[in-house]
Amino acid sequence: MLEKIKKAGFEAYFVGGSVRDALLGKAIHDIDIACSSYPAETKNIFPRTIDIGIEHGTVLVLENGHEYEVTTFRTEDVYVDYRRPSRVSFVRSLEEDLKRRDFTINAFALDEESYVIDKFNGLEDLKNKILRAVGEPSERFKEDALRIMRGLRFSACLNFTIEEKTFSAMQDHAELLEKISVERSFIELDKLLQAPFWKQGIRYLMLSHAYQYLPFLQDSLIKWEKMLADLPEDFVFSSSEQAWGAVLLYLGIDKTAPFLKKWKTSNDFQKTVEKMLAIYKLRQERKADKADVYRYGLHLMLLVEELRQAQGLTVDFERIKTIHANLTIHHKHEIVIKGRDLMAELQLKPGPELGKLLNQIEEHLVAGHLVNERTAILDFVRKELEA
Ligand code: ATP
Ligand code: MG
Repeated sequence: MLEKIKKAGFEAYFVGGSVRDALLGKAIHDIDIACSSYPAETKNIFPRTIDIGIEHGTVLVLENGHEYEVTTFRTEDVYVDYRRPSRVSFVRSLEEDLKRRDFTINAFALDEESYVIDKFNGLEDLKNKILRAVGEPSERFKEDALRIMRGLRFSACLNFTIEEKTFSAMQDHAELLEKISVERSFIELDKLLQAPFWKQGIRYLMLSHAYQYLPFLQDSLIKWEKMLADLPEDFVFSSSEQAWGAVLLYLGIDKTAPFLKKWKTSNDFQKTVEKMLAIYKLRQERKADKADVYRYGLHLMLLVEELRQAQGLTVDFERIKTIHANLTIHHKHEIVIKGRDLMAELQLKPGPELGKLLNQIEEHLVAGHLVNERTAILDFVRKELEA
């Protein structure tokens, strides 16, 4: 991959998170390459490319079954909105490019012979599990406050300690998070929550005061403390829904929709978290029954049980799984009789009556009072109509 760019007369290195993760022995996901070729030049080298951010110098290259984000060496000149550089300048030198990167452990370059170029002592920091800003921390967070959230996230993913000067600069500039797009903060907080060392990330979130500048979290300190005290040290959330469900629970927020709307999450996500909280509530009152398992589905039911388990509450994994396995139907579309069958067989007309009958069929099937067979269902409907 690098060879091809070099053969064309340019410099090219692996950079970013994939180098960091490879050095840590972790699985790598997206592979970033930095090079001296300009986007148009990169596109001439590879037959299959997709423009994903030409103005920032990035093209996606599809090569031997992989995707590579190939970005021209660049600097970021003037930051006006604390988030995006108002201008990026392409440069021909690797060093300039590495300087703009956020943390020393994200500022490695790896050449084609697997030699690590480490201009900021990142290897030392990697070894000591330290997160340190590249250059003057204060300047770097002023340029782009999202780096504060990224830093908290990396500490949670990697179990790294944030270096003192870096951390105090995070505290000093936490208020700039108000200027960061909520979607981007969400992505970082979401990754933080799902990370193995999320408690460490949350502790830093509290200590840095970053939470004060995030939607609906202004007065959340005691609530986070309770959440940390309640959940075991080694507990890890198994999905984003579960994590945010727990957050809403500990924050004591009943109205999920406005909260998550402010965080600009998708409607689907809001609905799922809402369901999780509804299940949680019902489980505080009673055991789940067939109708619950049918309505909410196995996956969400089990996510709630996991959370309950972490909280030291009684759990019902096996019962819920058995109920699910024995349900007559798992979805409406599995019902063997449709509305049009009822209309044809029993001379019914479309309308609310028919809808009500279909609902009754569904309820009886789920309750196990009716078998999912044509004659049985038609008999049931005839009886209902006579009654
Ligand atoms: P992940 O594992 O989430 O992909 P990553 O470190 O690869 O982590 P990316 O967002 O993929 O993060 O960015 C790739 C690289 O670009 C980073 O490693 C870092 O060098 C640089 N980078 C990304 N965002 C910023 C930023 N806000 N400020 C400075 N450098 C950044
Ligand atoms: Mg990455």
